[in-house]
Amino acid sequence: MSRAEIVVELPSLRHNVARLRQHAGVPVMVVVKADGYGHGIAEAGRAARAAGAEWLGVATIDEALRLRQVGDRDRLLCWLGVPGEDYAAAVEADVDVTAYSRAELAEIAAATRRAAPARVQLKVDTGLSRGGATLEEWEAVVAEARAGEERGDWRVTGIWSHFACSDEPDHPANDAQETAFRQALDVAAAAGLRPEVRHLANSAATLLRPSSRFDLVRCGIAAYGLDPAPLAPHDVVLRPVMTARSRLSLVKRVAAGDGVSYGHTWRADRPTTLGLVPVGYGDGVMRRAGNRAEAWVRGRRRPIRGRVCMDQLVVDLGDDHAEAGDEVVLFGPGDDGEPTAQDWAVWCDTINYEIVTRLGGRFERQHVDEGTVL
Ligand SMILES: *Cc1c(COP(=O)(O)O)cnc(C)c1O
Repeated sequence: MSRAEIVVELPSLRHNVARLRQHAGVPVMVVVKADGYGHGIAEAGRAARAAGAEWLGVATIDEALRLRQVGDRDRLLCWLGVPGEDYAAAVEADVDVTAYSRAELAEIAAATRRAAPARVQLKVDTGLSRGGATLEEWEAVVAEARAGEERGDWRVTGIWSHFACSDEPDHPANDAQETAFRQALDVAAAAGLRPEVRHLANSAATLLRPSSRFDLVRCGIAAYGLDPAPLAPHDVVLRPVMTARSRLSLVKRVAAGDGVSYGHTWRADRPTTLGLVPVGYGDGVMRRAGNRAEAWVRGRRRPIRGRVCMDQLVVDLGDDHAEAGDEVVLFGPGDDGEPTAQDWAVWCDTINYEIVTRLGGRFERQHVDEGTVL
């Protein structure tokens, strides 16, 4: 084992995708943006396809092209353009692109004059107030989209929107957004659009809000085995895919009163044994974990003492025996009692998404399939 490893269990990812498909009862888009939430875009995409994902979803055209480059040939949607985006490359690579506005449609139309007809999905803002056409703009966007179909510039393959509060199933915004989405679909249908897929649900809505599933659900975090809504119960058994581990690089005794790490924000109240772990915020370990999070060493959870540094952190081993070279699990599936990414999220006042997506730096990432390291 090297200094620090991210181990990605592909069978777990396939299990999660298969369970989500079964639960949803409609086709699934597995979202592999941001390097597959830190799990590797190519490997995550391949595992998702193997488990039956009809679609993959990414934010940027670059991410979509990367998937094509590693051999993905099936339906693939991207949704976050900037002015001057290379839509022609996306269209040539058979990627469905998303338009939020008439300006984006105009850019796509210009691109399709040099490429084959595009496949365009329209995003409507039903209340997240982030991307997408507002309901005021929607009629004009839809009219232009229909005109483009008649010109032969593109086919409108999808209409979609995104929830703001689906991790809080009782939040009134969910009903309001779903109602607005249905109205937007009516407007599009009245204008003559006949999209293949209408989609609204992310992981949390897939698990918690059956009425929002429409023709397709978009699952990111749940595919990686993490709960999108840890406070809302559901009965889909997901398996965390990522384990982050390292090794003790040094073990030492300190005396009562000794201060530990920058700023001496922790002081030993008795003699204790400290273990040095060679990972830090330079590798995406949250600095906020200092004096809050725990790691698993020799069959027990060990508190992180003092601040997390750029390259290293310190765990408290008490009076237990430990040696340099011992395995340190920062988080994993939790099977043996080791912390999970969700535990780290709570400790660091964030969400499990950030814990796994930010991890990187000098961690070596390894993909494992049925016990074989790929
Ligand atoms: C990231 C993203 C998703 C996936 O969200 P999860 O909560 O991880 O399931 C779905 N749709 C869009 C538009 C996204 O940006």
